Amino acid sequence: MPLNLTTRRNAESATTAVDRLDDLELHSPRPYPGSDVLWEELACGRTGCDWTGALFYSHLRASRGHNRRHVGCTGTPGTYRVHRPDSEITHRLAEAFPGIDFTLSTGPDGRTITWTGGPEPLHVTARLGTHQGTCNRLP
Ligand SMILES: [Zn+2]
Repeated sequence: MPLNLTTRRNAESATTAVDRLDDLELHSPRPYPGSDVLWEELACGRTGCDWTGALFYSHLRASRGHNRRHVGCTGTPGTYRVHRPDSEITHRLAEAFPGIDFTLSTGPDGRTITWTGGPEPLHVTARLGTHQGTCNRLP
């Protein structure tokens, strides 16, 4: 079931989780399932590592002091984001959140994703940079 992004809280939780996954250089075609539900089909995005598996987001959460990624990574740190073009990000988002329009732009602070969706118009930006996990409701 796709994550319901029509509430601000869900949208922010999903944004934080997806950003955290990105920080950890992991990705999944599946949307954020919730904190204590196994996030399946995770894959390591580092060059030189072909790990796939499932992890709980609650174990990946930076605010709880977790920094688990996955055990036994053979990839090169920092290679994931560099090799990922904008089109891949928008494609992945569109797959994970069907029916929601995403716009991606690149500025001096990094990439910014804007999306709208839901019965109540919800506008959220998520900045993809070194320190991720922020999102702001637009006026
Ligand atoms: Zn790895």
